Amino acid sequence: LKSLSPVTLLKPQGQFLKHFFLACVLLVEACTCPVCFGHLETPMTLECGYVCCQRCLDSLWKEPLAEGVLCPQCSILSEKDSTVHHVQLDRIVSKMKKLEPRLRAILKLNPRIKKFQVDVTLDVDTAHSHLAISPDLRSVRYAGSAQRGSSGAERFDSPCVLGSPRLESGRSYWEVDVGTSREWDVGVCADAASRRGPLQLSTEHSFWTVGLRLGKIFAACTEPTTELRLLPRLRRLGILLDAELGVLTFCDVADGGHIFTFTGVTARPLRPFFSPANTLPDDRGILRICPVVWVAQDSPREPPMHTEH
Ligand SMILES: [Zn+2]
Ligand SMILES: [Zn+2]
Repeated sequence: LKSLSPVTLLKPQGQFLKHFFLACVLLVEACTCPVCFGHLETPMTLECGYVCCQRCLDSLWKEPLAEGVLCPQCSILSEKDSTVHHVQLDRIVSKMKKLEPRLRAILKLNPRIKKFQVDVTLDVDTAHSHLAISPDLRSVRYAGSAQRGSSGAERFDSPCVLGSPRLESGRSYWEVDVGTSREWDVGVCADAASRRGPLQLSTEHSFWTVGLRLGKIFAACTEPTTELRLLPRLRRLGILLDAELGVLTFCDVADGGHIFTFTGVTARPLRPFFSPANTLPDDRGILRICPVVWVAQDSPREPPMHTEH
């Protein structure tokens, strides 16, 4: 199955296997507890539909009366007695556990993904005035003071910057080094996303990003937010956009491990998005776009993707 990893495949099977890949993503997500990030053990459903392990319910007890369970996602209170064992999901989880090693292998990004690399650089015209951009246009950090004028229709009011090129079609892959910074957001946004006022990072506002807060809260900007398992070793993110499928996948470059996949990424064109640490006084972490490294091609018929500006 590992050899069927969708990102390694050429057409015509590619389309089917990309959907298969998505199904695997959804299956693994559905079987993961949002509280402990382990497999759902005796999955229990709250009144609002939130599901977590039975043992994890304890951490949700509402204090101090402990009469109900407070959903961490929507804050709706469920009566303790009204939580229901999700029998069907329980069965799926037990089957999934047996398949898991193979599912993880499918979700792992293959090094051959590099054939879809795009040469991303930072677009200074979009950069907030307090962001320092390196001369090679690949690194950004929050400088804390004005580096350029704050006017310009393309400029963000918040400390972030977009990458070029605009991404319209095909598959695009790039890598971002987040270093040891404890606060950052990285991903894509619609070129048309609002740049005025406070930044509202959510899929509803046409941003598809993952980010770290205080060095310990790692989340995807879904609506509501999806908290992700913290990866302390995470230094370099691989980002794969499949514009045909409307899918954006994040992985840990160190081991190819799958981090998160957004579906329904339908806005066009899209732009790579970067927001370095800017609220922590002792964190002036740099976000750096990793240089493109071409790998040997398996198939001369599928050249590196060309991008349009
Ligand atoms: Zn749990
Ligand atoms: Zn809820």
